Amino acid sequence: GKGLAVFTSGGDSQGMNAAVRAVVRMAIYLGCKVFFIKEGYQGMVDGGDNIEEANWSSVSSIIHKGGTVIGSARCMDFKERTGRLSAACNLVKRGITNLVVIGGDGSLTGANLFRQEWSSLLDELLTTSRINKTEREKYAHLNIVGMVGSIDNDFCGTDMTIGTDSALHRIMDAIDAIVSTAYSHQRTFIMEVMGRHCGYLALVTALASEADFVFIPEWPPQQDWATKMCKKLLQERTAGQRLNIIIVSEGAIDRNGQPITAEMVKQVVVDNLKQDTRITVLGHVQRGGAPSAFDRVLGCRMGAEAVMALMEATPETEACVVSLDGNQAVRLPLMECVEKTKAVAKAMADKQWELAVQLRGRS
Ligand code: ADP
Repeated sequence: GKGLAVFTSGGDSQGMNAAVRAVVRMAIYLGCKVFFIKEGYQGMVDGGDNIEEANWSSVSSIIHKGGTVIGSARCMDFKERTGRLSAACNLVKRGITNLVVIGGDGSLTGANLFRQEWSSLLDELLTTSRINKTEREKYAHLNIVGMVGSIDNDFCGTDMTIGTDSALHRIMDAIDAIVSTAYSHQRTFIMEVMGRHCGYLALVTALASEADFVFIPEWPPQQDWATKMCKKLLQERTAGQRLNIIIVSEGAIDRNGQPITAEMVKQVVVDNLKQDTRITVLGHVQRGGAPSAFDRVLGCRMGAEAVMALMEATPETEACVVSLDGNQAVRLPLMECVEKTKAVAKAMADKQWELAVQLRGRS
């Protein structure tokens, strides 16, 4: 059977285990020899026990667990050609020419580069006698398929990334808890949520919790935001509300690109309205805990589709990323999605907010 390996890279997210499980089982079902690569690219570079053959039961009882049981890491070595040379050697020695990478845009970019370099890496391994001629010929092509695991939902091309839905659940639970205590003491709470440069988590949880104000990086407020916000908070209190909730995305900025922090927002509320104001920074709680049903099923579907894509790949096939389009798992050209994701970041850096929102697409 074909040699296939799966690994998780970059930041972890809930649902990655469901994806790993689906990849392993689908690939075994289709007759592949399947491997885990532990600790992301670091495990691929280091080889040894980090690359372990998987069987049907080695992915039992992991679907309900958060994070990734095979570990994830950021890896400097893989950014250097010498690191990628070791990685290629480790894969060839085990007959692995199909890779499923579950990670963010950085991990996917690395995988694509690796695929483009594969031929030259193998040539170098042959000239330095680390592999032989038979191996050079037998493992001449590397196929890769990506899946995006991230709570941020910051990747262009997919409606949802694996982990986002679970993070939304976690944030909603926290806001509901805060609301009950805020009510008792008539307090104002400022909740800082994750998302890096993507305001998706903040925006969706603000809508779902009937928050009074939200700050997201894609839509920086006008310079007079402090006045507008205070007016809105006061209006709610006058109408009989006993509390106010403000959601601040960790990447929130103003129109000059300067950060808007929870601390700044608090100062505005305290100075102008003298409300009893508290900050809650949710932090890594958002990335932990059990995956939601949605993320488990998303991981399953994407994992299965990724293996199908690899089995159908030819040396000419472009590397793809498995995405969710509507309610359908689809394959999209990997680098096009990565480029578009980078274009969003650039548009935001250039203060072209409307372009950024437009490029981001449906998600
Ligand atoms: P994410 O995948 O979540 O975006 P990173 O950007 O940190 O996270 O990437 C994860 C890992 O992927 C890096 O530590 C590195 O090993 C690898 N990687 C990222 N970008 C590249 C690149 N341009 N070339 C080679 N490897 C890369």
